[in-house]
Amino acid sequence: MKRWSVLGTVIGVAVVSMAVSGQAPQGPSARAIEATKIEKVKDNLYIITGSSAGGDAFSGGNTAVFITDAGVTLVDTKLPGYGPTLLERIKSVTSKPVTRIINTHSHADHTGGNAFFGPTVESIVQENAKKTMAADPSYAGDRAKFLPTRTYQDRLTVGSGKDRIEVYYFGRGHTNGDSFIVFPALRTMHVGDIFAWKALPYVDASAGGSVVEQPKTLAKAVATVKNVDTIINGHIPVSTWNDLKEYADFTKDFVAYAEASLKAGKSAEQAGKEYTVAPKYKGYVVTIDEGFVKPAGNLQMAYEELKGK
Ligand SMILES: [Zn+2]
Repeated sequence: MKRWSVLGTVIGVAVVSMAVSGQAPQGPSARAIEATKIEKVKDNLYIITGSSAGGDAFSGGNTAVFITDAGVTLVDTKLPGYGPTLLERIKSVTSKPVTRIINTHSHADHTGGNAFFGPTVESIVQENAKKTMAADPSYAGDRAKFLPTRTYQDRLTVGSGKDRIEVYYFGRGHTNGDSFIVFPALRTMHVGDIFAWKALPYVDASAGGSVVEQPKTLAKAVATVKNVDTIINGHIPVSTWNDLKEYADFTKDFVAYAEASLKAGKSAEQAGKEYTVAPKYKGYVVTIDEGFVKPAGNLQMAYEELKGK
């Protein structure tokens, strides 16, 4: 599977067919559409729910719908083929048009619906994420017009007053282009897949991700962003600021475990077998969807990064 295999076997057939053909896969399954609901987070802010697993019910990441005076800003657009479903859900809460898309990162399960909204809608990603997208066959040739129209390096402000959005890049993690998108008036931040779920992270090294850097990036977000109480995650229901802090600690502890295991001369395979989630992380599992992210795999990546220092 190719770079887009983001969620690997979870996305499964849809991504394989896209990778092979360079085309969007066939439309979403009835089960996936059924699971794609619009829910209110705060005034003028909704999420269209995504999923973290479920085979053909997998729709991609959580989409944020922010209704501003000028129109709707979407954060993330699920897998290819979800544009019509997104629009239908949006129309149930506002008659305003979609005027802006921000993608938390490059992966197809967060950017796949972009093209549906057309090449003229303003679309924003961190500059490294755009590079990753531009190198992907699904944006080759004529489809290059669907690449994001605007990038930033470390920080970007769009809109003003109650409609203001702050976009931050704090460093490598899930990829090398993960944005944190803050709606200051609503004390809410979309963090995408750098905190996708309460389990070991999926780190995409081919898109510049880093197991070792991820906790530092999360800690920087926690130290920098103020006045946020609600977190929209990559693939689980809305969580809290404290959950984000806890996840930063969880990933930091994992890197400490990797360092200790490496020092003790344990193979990644062995250390992976021995890894358990500390009891203080309530509600956590080692891995989502029955082993999608393998501890040994993350440890191997951490080992390579640590040895490369
Ligand atoms: Zn992702």
